[in-house]
Amino acid sequence: MKLTLIYPSMGKILNEKYVKSWQMQPLSIAVIAGLTPNDIDITFYDDRLDEIPYDDPTDLVAISVETYTAKRAYTIADEYRKRGIPVVMGGMQASLIPEEVSQHADATVVGDAEPVWQDVLEDAKNNQLQTYYRTPRKNGLLTHTRPDRTIYQDKNYLSLELIEAGRGCPFACDFCAIAGSYHQSYRMKTIDDIVNEVGRVDGKNLFFVDDNFISKSRQTKELCHAIAPLNKKWFSHGSINMTNDDELLDCLAKSGCANILIGFESLNPKVLQAMGKSWNIAKRDYSEAIQKLRDRGITIYATFVFGYDDDTEDDIKRTFEFAVEQKFCMAAFNHLVPFPGTPLYDRLKKDDRLINDKWWLTSGQTFGDVFFKPTKMSAETLAQRCYECRQEYYSYHSIFKRSLDFKANCNGWYQSLIYFITNHVSRKGILQRQGWPIGDLIGSVG
Ligand code: SF4
Repeated sequence: MKLTLIYPSMGKILNEKYVKSWQMQPLSIAVIAGLTPNDIDITFYDDRLDEIPYDDPTDLVAISVETYTAKRAYTIADEYRKRGIPVVMGGMQASLIPEEVSQHADATVVGDAEPVWQDVLEDAKNNQLQTYYRTPRKNGLLTHTRPDRTIYQDKNYLSLELIEAGRGCPFACDFCAIAGSYHQSYRMKTIDDIVNEVGRVDGKNLFFVDDNFISKSRQTKELCHAIAPLNKKWFSHGSINMTNDDELLDCLAKSGCANILIGFESLNPKVLQAMGKSWNIAKRDYSEAIQKLRDRGITIYATFVFGYDDDTEDDIKRTFEFAVEQKFCMAAFNHLVPFPGTPLYDRLKKDDRLINDKWWLTSGQTFGDVFFKPTKMSAETLAQRCYECRQEYYSYHSIFKRSLDFKANCNGWYQSLIYFITNHVSRKGILQRQGWPIGDLIGSVG
């Protein structure tokens, strides 16, 4: 049996290189490859980097799909199905809105692939694919996940090894596609499995792709103790409640944590309440939390989101100034994105405030567009202010100013190198990403 694995791009501009900062290893595809028995012949195409040869012989195509890549994934799936090749799709979008995904697939995996992948392959061999393969969202252990990274060979990815320690998040933020998909469940691999995987990758720099690395603080501490001797530097996402636990912060720092992405989202308590994230400031204010990380030499990638009903242009300005003042290593100034399957999406739809309720399927949509009507400014103003914040944050003046943080950003040669590389890549990426097509294949920009 021949299996073709495909990681779709968000959209493509012909004769233009894909956005470099988006060229991370496609871990979800490596997981599927690792679950597939050796007697099945695997071919992998990364649509961000490869042309897809639709006419090459294959027996089954598997595509991982997210909201931003959905339109492109469906186009690819439709091409194969026109040729009589069965297609199975999974990934975040398949968990958020399986009914839509299943219109373009012979089989849709809803939830984790691990428990059902052998059944999918067996049914495909017997021409008996089912419409849905569902796995329940529940807490527990993440087992049988052993990514096959040989599929990355000959592909030019960012030099960052992606590892997954756990999947999901115990919180339920109103706008978050992860919450919409995992329903507050969290599953973690065993410490032994994670340590073995960390030991197997060659690179020194790791990115734990976990949705919330500190979801289970006791296990996270154990993991940190176990990986510390491997002498790696690592990056991940984590919620700010990590700063309530000094022992946890010490463990993170000692295990090689160089940078952590934290969703600060807003400085406005009313907005935090609206998004279900009041817990962000429940125990201490942001400045105190930031200081605790800085004191341990951990740099911060701060993310903010704008467009809730209480957000004004002044709030955006104030937040930007706060980010510069705090000298975050990196910061994202995002407008709200109504992902399907989230409470935010349902509310905006009910209130008739979606500019386009299937924005991810509509031609002509680009990265940076706002897809809903905010209350205190126009959609265009919201998009423009966010873009201006990004540009200004990564101006040379701002990069220099923020480098004058010798406790974290430029604490020694390694942190300094990482600081300047990540800021340089972000600076380039902001210009390239703005206006990038969502789902379309176009001949030129504009
Ligand atoms: S803490 Fe982060 S990952 Fe978890 S639900 Fe909130 S936004 Fe999503």
